[in-house]
Amino acid sequence: MSARLVLLGPPGAGKGTQASRLAERLGVPAISTGDIFRANITGGTELGRKVQEYTAVGALVPDEVTNAMVRDRLAQPDAAEGFLLDGYPRNVAQVAELDAILAELGRDLDVAVEITADAEVVVERMLGRAEIEGRVDDTEPVIRHRLEVYALQTAPIADVYAERGLLVRVDGLGAVDEVTERLLSALEPHVA
Ligand code: ADP
Repeated sequence: MSARLVLLGPPGAGKGTQASRLAERLGVPAISTGDIFRANITGGTELGRKVQEYTAVGALVPDEVTNAMVRDRLAQPDAAEGFLLDGYPRNVAQVAELDAILAELGRDLDVAVEITADAEVVVERMLGRAEIEGRVDDTEPVIRHRLEVYALQTAPIADVYAERGLLVRVDGLGAVDEVTERLLSALEPHVA
C-alpha cells in the first residue's frame, strides 16, 4: 500500500485531528511541521529557539529551516512506504522543494487533500481550542494573521496540485467522525 499525501486547509479546519486519524487508518506516519516546531520550542532545542519568533506571531518560518527539517523527516525509514504531511508545503516554493525531495527519494505524491472551512467558523474553533490547549498563537490577532498568510501564500498551492490532477477537496464542516469518513471515501481512489 502506498499513500503519499499532503493535507491542505486553513488553520482551524481540523487538519491536525484528521491527519492523525487518517494516518492511522492508512498505516502511514502523520508528519506535522507545526507539531514538530511546537515540540522543539517546548523542549528548548536550537531549532525551537530559531522558529519561536515566527510561530508566535503567525508568520511562516523561513523556508530553508522548514525544508531541511522535512527533508530529514521524509528520509526516515518509517516514511518509506508512505506519509501524510500536515502543514507542508505551505507556499509555492515549498511545493517545488517537496517535488525535489521526492524526486531524490524516487517517489511520487499520490494526492493533495484540501479540507475546506469557512473563515469565521475556524476563528471560533481556534478561540475555543485556545482555552483548552493554551496554544500561544491562538489569540485573535495572531489567528487573523495566520488566516491572511494562508489566503496569500498557502491557498494558491491548491491550484498547483489541481493542475496536476492531484487535488481532492473535502468539506470540513460537521462532526469529526463524519469528516474522517468523508476524507477516506474521497481518498480511496487515489491510495492503493
Ligand atoms: P495552523 O495551521 O493551525 O496555523 P500549524 O500547527 O500548522 O498551525 O503551524 C503553526 C506555525 O508553525 C505556523 O503559524 C508557522 O509559523 C509554522 N509553520 C508550520 N508549518 C510551516 C511551514 N511549512 N512553513 C513555514 N512555517 C510553518
